Amino acid sequence: LAQLYGPLNMLGYIYRSVNQSLVDTEKLLKLLNEPTEINDRPGAPDLIVEDGEIEFDNVNFSYDGRNTALKGVSFRVPKHSSVALVGESGSGKSTILRLLYRFYDLKEGEGRILIDGKDIRDVTQASLRKAIGVVPQDPVLFNHSIAYNIGYGKFGASRDEIEAAAGAAQLHDRIMSFPDGYETKVGERGIRLSGGEKQRVAIARTMLKNPPILLLDEATSALDTSTEKDIQKALLHLQEGRSSLSIAHRLSTIATADLIIVLKDGQIVEQGTHSELLALDGMFASMWADQVSSSDGASSHKKDITGY
Ligand code: ATP
Repeated sequence: LAQLYGPLNMLGYIYRSVNQSLVDTEKLLKLLNEPTEINDRPGAPDLIVEDGEIEFDNVNFSYDGRNTALKGVSFRVPKHSSVALVGESGSGKSTILRLLYRFYDLKEGEGRILIDGKDIRDVTQASLRKAIGVVPQDPVLFNHSIAYNIGYGKFGASRDEIEAAAGAAQLHDRIMSFPDGYETKVGERGIRLSGGEKQRVAIARTMLKNPPILLLDEATSALDTSTEKDIQKALLHLQEGRSSLSIAHRLSTIATADLIIVLKDGQIVEQGTHSELLALDGMFASMWADQVSSSDGASSHKKDITGY
C-alpha cells in the first residue's frame, strides 16, 4: 500500500492541476469572452520562464477578418515591471490579454508574442497558463470555505500559507471578523462577499499560485475609497517580483505603473510613465483632466475612462 501512495498522490496532484487550469480558464472566459479552438504544435515543449519578460512584436489581429482589433502593436514588459493598458471601450485592452493567454493564435504575418524571447505559439498552452496568474474583475468563488477558496491557488497549501496570503491581500482582518473565520462558507449558499472582497480572495489565491506573470483586470464598478486603497495595496504586493499587464479603468490606480500604454482603435497612441504622459499633454492628459474634474468632491463616483 505504501508503494501505491506515491503514484496515487501524484495522480491526485495531476487531477488537481488539470482541474485547476480548467477552472482558471473558465473564470478567464467570463472575463475575456469566448475562445476559439487552438492547438499545440506536435511535440511542443513547455515554456520555461526565467525573467518573465513579455514582448508584443508588431501584432495585428482581427476577430472576424474584417474589423481590426489590434494594429501594429509593439511593446515590452521588462522583467518584474508593471505595464498598464488604458483606453476607451473597444480600444483593444482585453484583446491584448486574450492573445497573451492564447485564446487566439496569431497567424503568419500577424506579428509575434514572446515570453523570454520564446514565441508563445511554440510552447504548450498548459505550461503558458501555469506561468500566468489572472485576477479578473469579478472572480468566481466556490460554494466552500474562504480557506478553500484561497488555498485553491496551491495544491496542499497549509493554513499558515493561506493566512499569510490573506494577510498580504489585506483580507485577514475581514475574515477574522466573520464568526466562523476561515471556515466561513462563501458563494451562493454562504456569505456573499462584496466585489472588492472577492477580488482580494483572487489576489490571495494568485499569491499562493505564485506565477511569474500576472494579468490584472481592474473592476470597473466604483469602489469606496478605503476598499480601493486596500486593493491597491494588495495588488502592489502581488506585483512585486513579477511582470504584470493590467487593464486600468481608473487612472488614479496606475500612477505607480512603470509604463502606461494608451490605446485607441487598436493602436498605441501614447506610452510613458504617468508624469511623462501628463507632460505630453495629449490623450492621456485630457483623460486625466476629465477624470479629476469629474471626481471633484465625489471620489466614489469617479468617472471611468471606458465611458460607462
Ligand atoms: P472594454 O474596455 O469595453 O472591455 P477593450 O478595450 O477591452 O474594451 P476589446 O474587447 O479588446 O476592447 O475589443 C477590441 C475590438 O475588438 C472592439 O472593436 C471589439 O468590438 C472587437 N471584439 C472584441 N471581442 C470580439 C469578439 N469576440 N468577436 C469579434 N469582435 C470582437
